[in-house]
Amino acid sequence: MTPNREDYLKALYKLGGLEGLVSNKQIAEELQVSPASVTEILGKMEREGLIHYEPYKGSRLAEKGVPLAVSLVRGHRLWEVFLMRCLGYSWSEAHEDAELLEHATSPRLEDRLDQFLNYPAYCPHGSAIPRADGQVEDAPTQPLSQLGVGAFSHIRRVTEERELMDYLQENGVQIGSPVLVIDAAAYEGPLTLDLDGRRVQISYKAAGKIYVDQVSGGADSTL
Ligand SMILES: [Zn+2]
Repeated sequence: MTPNREDYLKALYKLGGLEGLVSNKQIAEELQVSPASVTEILGKMEREGLIHYEPYKGSRLAEKGVPLAVSLVRGHRLWEVFLMRCLGYSWSEAHEDAELLEHATSPRLEDRLDQFLNYPAYCPHGSAIPRADGQVEDAPTQPLSQLGVGAFSHIRRVTEERELMDYLQENGVQIGSPVLVIDAAAYEGPLTLDLDGRRVQISYKAAGKIYVDQVSGGADSTL
């Protein structure tokens, strides 16, 4: 499916387009489309007043685009909670179908869903769910790959890429799990972890897409 304006709004939100400029390249990567089509659609969205677009610099959400973007992200994440909690979906399945449902969700349905689920603060992958007014509560995190041997933290969020989510779920990775780095192989080799009492190996690449609570005072960086 070709991404539409709503996908662009959501991509801008996720890439920091509330506060600053997001480059076309970042958007193209996020949506997996060509830079040429990004430029074309952003031009249209600028004329519609949804975004501010600065040629060669990037774009950010305009006042009119912000509530639309918030609502899409909110709907997406609430549906994910529903699909996993009530219908037994896996991480990747929930993400996939939430992509469809988010485009057909009225603010009323969103609010009822929120109420039904008892106002969850996070989606099943650990991303904060914005309130209807756009407020989010979020704690600072860092990639697991940055932790040194001996560092202890908790898993807070995983990047929502299909293969990664399946890989992590097969390895028993869960949001909230305590994690201790037992060993990190040289040259960005796999990390050996104690994950909630179980010993698990995770590739360095995957560990870069898992976010944990920031470790204060810092174990040594692995690099
Ligand atoms: Zn999610």
